[in-house]
Amino acid sequence: MEYGSNSCAASMHDNQFMVKEDNAMTRQTGDTTGIYLDYNSSAPLDPRVAEVMAESFGSGIGNSSSAHRFGRCQAATVEKARAQVAESVGARPSGVVFTAGATEANNLALRGAVEGSLSHRRKILISAVEHASVRQTARWLDEQGLAKIEILPVTSGGFIDLNAAKEIINTDVLLVSVMAANSETGVLNPLAEVSEIAHSAGALFHCDATQIVGRLPFSIGLAGVDLASISSHKICGPGGVGALVGTQRGLRQLSPIIHGGEQEGGVRSGSLNVAGISGFGTAAQLSSEEMGTESKRVVHLRDQLVSALKADLYGVQEIGDISKRLPNTACIHFADADAEAVIANSDPVAISAGSACSSGSIEPSEVLLAMGLSRAEAFEAVRFSLGRFTSEHEVERAVPIVAAGVEYVRDMTESNAR
Ligand code: PMP
Repeated sequence: MEYGSNSCAASMHDNQFMVKEDNAMTRQTGDTTGIYLDYNSSAPLDPRVAEVMAESFGSGIGNSSSAHRFGRCQAATVEKARAQVAESVGARPSGVVFTAGATEANNLALRGAVEGSLSHRRKILISAVEHASVRQTARWLDEQGLAKIEILPVTSGGFIDLNAAKEIINTDVLLVSVMAANSETGVLNPLAEVSEIAHSAGALFHCDATQIVGRLPFSIGLAGVDLASISSHKICGPGGVGALVGTQRGLRQLSPIIHGGEQEGGVRSGSLNVAGISGFGTAAQLSSEEMGTESKRVVHLRDQLVSALKADLYGVQEIGDISKRLPNTACIHFADADAEAVIANSDPVAISAGSACSSGSIEPSEVLLAMGLSRAEAFEAVRFSLGRFTSEHEVERAVPIVAAGVEYVRDMTESNAR
């Protein structure tokens, strides 16, 4: 899929380095079309999803909570999507609570479990590589005196250290939160093993499954998860929609964090975003149906990209255990090249540094630091994430552009140091 060169892209990059006027590749070919390799941040809307949403926008009158025929029609659209989302993660439709995204689902899981708990347990354990919406919620609960947080360390490969987990998880623990796949490195966690440790201590297991859904098979039953957060815009659905999916045991213990009209079984009040939810349902179904062929196609493109960059440049190293990783993600360390500067000089290729959700911050990625990278190394890490609309032609075009960007930054760094 081609994305037009868009004028706001130029102003996004404000950097200590000079930004090249254009690059050799676009000068040679005159092709300035954007190449989007930032799917872990947000995946483009699938036109098939847009079609379903347009239908819902066009025909949708009324509130899905209303008893009249218009309301019932809206409710039927929501229930169809609920079944689609449930099926995509092996849950029951009654276990799906729609939210405004995975950030809200993560907040609801942690805060809801703590505030709804009747037990003496007050400890929450989160892994050292969680998304900010888990980390910050846990920190907030700790600061409010509502819970005590403890961090589960990860190995240098980026996945949870199971021996440490066995030592730390005990009967004081209310909830363990470990993500399925890391958004920055793509590294996968051993969920079934974590679940067993958490459950044998009587704790709930929450999993931020945002990045795995639609990319690799994920089922709450097989993973042994009580609560899972998912997001529509990572699977080519619309933004601002997601869900907390749970078992009866997981959802029963939650206290709502948004109060009002008692929608979603009283767990999440507020009139529903029917068109968005219908798009989410379609996106979930499509990504489940196409995952098998798509993951094979994308892993090939990702590996082709990495090999070509390694062939063109010195000091290119993948970060994290590459044998346990999402098929679409490569987090690459470019020695002697500041990642933000590389990104600024790789336009029109869209790639990112650190977590996209925390970009703008000048702190290095907490995820990479937790894996043992130095601050300097963490500042040199760039994430490439591919997806449904990435073509071989785009990967071939992206390689010389990024390589030229890295070389330019290295040259500038060297001449600044002189
Ligand atoms: N968790 C993970 C692992 C993510 O990658 C993201 C998105 N960057 C979120 C949660 C937040 O999702 P949303 O944008 O739907 O709030």
